[in-house]
Order: sequence, then C-alpha cells, then structure tokens
Amino acid sequence: SVLRAEHIWLDGKLVKWDEGNVHVMTHALHYGLGVFEGIRAYKTHDGRLAVFRLREHIQRLLDSAHIIMLHIPYTEDQLVEATLDLLRQQKHLFANGAYLRPVAFMGDGAMGLGAVNPTRVAVTAWDWGAYLGDKGIREGIRAKVSSFTRMHVNVNMVRGKITGQYVNSILAKREAVLAGYDEAILLDISGFVAEASGENIFMVNKKGVIKTPPLSSPILDGITRDTVLKLLRDSGRTVEEVTFTRDALYICNEIFFTGTAAEITPVREVDNRQVGEGKPGPIGKFVQDTYFRVVRGQDDRYADWLTYV
Ligand code: PMP
Repeated sequence: SVLRAEHIWLDGKLVKWDEGNVHVMTHALHYGLGVFEGIRAYKTHDGRLAVFRLREHIQRLLDSAHIIMLHIPYTEDQLVEATLDLLRQQKHLFANGAYLRPVAFMGDGAMGLGAVNPTRVAVTAWDWGAYLGDKGIREGIRAKVSSFTRMHVNVNMVRGKITGQYVNSILAKREAVLAGYDEAILLDISGFVAEASGENIFMVNKKGVIKTPPLSSPILDGITRDTVLKLLRDSGRTVEEVTFTRDALYICNEIFFTGTAAEITPVREVDNRQVGEGKPGPIGKFVQDTYFRVVRGQDDRYADWLTYV
C-alpha cells in the first residue's frame, strides 16, 4: 500500500506532494549520481511515533555523498530536523509508522560526466508494509542465488548507498521474481555469499554457529545488520563475520535477511533446497521478536536508538 503523502521536504522546504518534481535534464537521472537512505518510523508500544536509528542513517547518507563527492548543502542536524519536521507535519497520516526516503542527487544544469551541478535534496515518507510480505515475515521466503554478481569493491563503492549501483540489485531481484522466487542472493566475484538484493544475510550452521559476511565483502554496511549483531552478542551468542560458500547455505539450519525495509525475514528455501525444517528457526525468531520489541520502544536497553517525533 503506497500512501500519497501531503508533503515532501525538497531543498529546504516542505512542498505539496504534486510539487515534488525535477527536470528531465536532471544529471542523476542520466548517470545515477545520487545517494539515498531507507529509514523506518514505528508506532511505539505507548502509541507514539519513533524513528529507528535516524542519526546513523543520516550519517550514512552523508558518508555515501562524501564517497561520490556529491556536495550536500545541509548539516547532519539539519537533515535530522528535516526528517522529523516532515513527520510532525503529517503525523495524522503516519500514526501507524512510516518509511522515510531521503535522497540527494546531482540536479540539472550541465550535461556530461564531468559536470558539477547543484545538488538537490529531498525527504519523502510513505506507508510501506513488510517489504517481503507479511507472510514472508511469518513463514519465511524462497530465495535464489543470482546469475548476477555483486560488484567488486573497486567497481561499486560498497560503503555507499548510491542510486546508480542499484541497477545491479534490480537485475538480480527481477530475475529471481520472474523465476518464481521472492528474493535474490548475490555472490561476490570469488563466489562467496555477499548479500541479498536489498538485505544483508545471516545463517546458522548445523553446529549452531551464527555467521554473516564481513564488511570486507562487497556488502552494504547495513544498519539492521549492525543492530542484529548487537542484539545477538548482547544475548550472549557469538556471531562470526566470515565469508562462506553458497552450499553452506544449502546445508545450514537457518537463514534470515536483515534490512530496514525487509526487517527480519526468515528464508525457508534456497535454490529449491529446504532450509532446516523449512520454517523460521529459533535464532531467527529470537532476532525477529527482539528487533520488533526494540523498534517499538519495549526494550529500555536500546532506548537510545529511538528518536521520538
Ligand atoms: N544491502 C543492500 C544492498 C541494501 O540496499 C540494504 C537496504 N538499505 C541493506 C543491505 C540493508 O541495510 P539497512 O539495514 O541499513 O537497511
């Protein structure tokens, strides 16, 4: 369900939804030089609205821009405030939560790869349900290892969430969905598991060892990945940040994806091989339950991660 909000924050002010336009000569539209974020605000257990790890997302947006040398004419504090303003202005629409999308990109002016035009910055919000479906969250999804490879770390800037880089993700996602699966798993150029098209990946092997690919793999430094690492380690479990092969997924007990949009989504099948019992396993369920409690403000240990609107 995509909700048409009333306002968009665009280049420093709130404008009506219909006025959130850019010109077709927008440089980023042609060449992909932009950065973006995906952030969620949740309805907390006491009926308020709180943005989850807002500052970390804005910091990553600024880091992404720094990587591609895109000048953003706003400070971290200004972007945090812009995001909160947008929600405050439309609180009546987002009482049950919101998905927030800050985006910054090179605007129109000159064309050509050497151009440097003024940066446009927008923040939009809409109502976005479970990215891989409510059923996916509850029962697990079916994934397929993609024929598309995650780009080498010297091709894509993997520490950045850069718009143009998402063509690779879209090719993988479409291939998987058209073949009847829910999501794609991409390998790196050496054949080790990297991440899904828009999520990081965790697995639990038969010995109960929890693993996720390290940050030296071509993966996004996911904020949900970081959250899950903390939740697991705080619960006394150890997690290995190591590379592993696709067949390790075939014979493991549990797999789950982590991401702001997908939250914690269990994987019940990979490449037509049942994972574990073919349903969400205990570690994935623990992570999912804990995550949803944390984002809804029910766990005081992680209160710092919430910014109330
Ligand atoms: N990997 C990719 C390629 C993504 O696009 C995302 C979504 N931002 C993630 C992982 C998960 O990142 P996060 O937990 O910060 O949303």
